[in-house]
Amino acid sequence: MQLRTLPVVRRDTTTVQVGTDPRWAVALADLSPPAARALAALPAGATDRAVLAALRDERVAGDEARAVLDHLAAAHLLVPPPQPAPEQPDARAWSLLDAGGDGTSVLAARSGARVRVSGLDRVGAVVAHTLAMAGVGTLELDDAAPVGPQDVGFGGVSERDLGEHREVAVARAARADRPHLRTLAPVGRPPDVVVLVDRGVADPVRHTPLRDAGATHLSVVVREASVLVGPLVVPGSTSCLTCVELHRADADPAWPMVAAQLVADRTVAGLVAETTLATIAGALTAAQVLAHLDGRPCLARDAALEVALPLGVPRRQQWLPHPACGCGSHVTVDQGSARACVGAGAAPDGVRVRQR
Ligand SMILES: [Zn+2]
Repeated sequence: MQLRTLPVVRRDTTTVQVGTDPRWAVALADLSPPAARALAALPAGATDRAVLAALRDERVAGDEARAVLDHLAAAHLLVPPPQPAPEQPDARAWSLLDAGGDGTSVLAARSGARVRVSGLDRVGAVVAHTLAMAGVGTLELDDAAPVGPQDVGFGGVSERDLGEHREVAVARAARADRPHLRTLAPVGRPPDVVVLVDRGVADPVRHTPLRDAGATHLSVVVREASVLVGPLVVPGSTSCLTCVELHRADADPAWPMVAAQLVADRTVAGLVAETTLATIAGALTAAQVLAHLDGRPCLARDAALEVALPLGVPRRQQWLPHPACGCGSHVTVDQGSARACVGAGAAPDGVRVRQR
């Protein structure tokens, strides 16, 4: 066993604190001053034998040394040595969050995952690059538009990529930073998750076939000064994008006409996410994909996360399955709570919808 790789600091002469995150940080109090000194001087990741040796070197009594080790074990600060994964420092953070203490298994599972990112503007490029760096094994990249000056600096795209297809430039940058990554053009079999990046409004021509094919997909919509991340649609289990449209139409009868115009509007098609917005929303999107792949709770299920300037702090809007949608998900939820969410959002033109 070995001590988790956490900072060890002294609070006073007889108290030592291990870790800084309140979810797992522990203060060992009422130590003898030599024991506190020995613990504070331990190297990161010391084995239990090394801890005992350091205590002996400070002439700490045997019963206190054993009690210290017992306290460390009870606080889950002693864990089995991890498998070496020098190329993935993320394993350390996931080791702390995973009850089994083995973050390498999280990353090993991601290496077998395949994610498609369709739409590689600033936001899509950040999504793809973040997923690659977080260990997703295969990316299907889909956007043949040429790299423009506004794309440079996002997801590893550089000036030398100007004029190149976005899917080629983003793939090259991601592989340069993570050589084991596989990049493909979209193939027939649905991947584990499809990320759809749209502007103005989610395009039903792109998302409806995915739902009907049973493919898990995550909608991302870039607007003038905000980005909507979600919902993550798991067909048959969660609300779908048609559910969202039906809720919006309930609250605003003009919404279907507005949405149809936004799909075709050239001004909307030229929207570019502001720099901080693209970076925050891109990382937030990747985090939702990884939560789904890892089997953790995903905040974008039955909801969208809106990141808006000037603050850029995500706000969650719930979108439960709509009873009139043909996707069948509404039968799995309580209808009272479904009604409660109607009108909880804002139309993409910025018009606040009145609560019922
Ligand atoms: Zn639906």
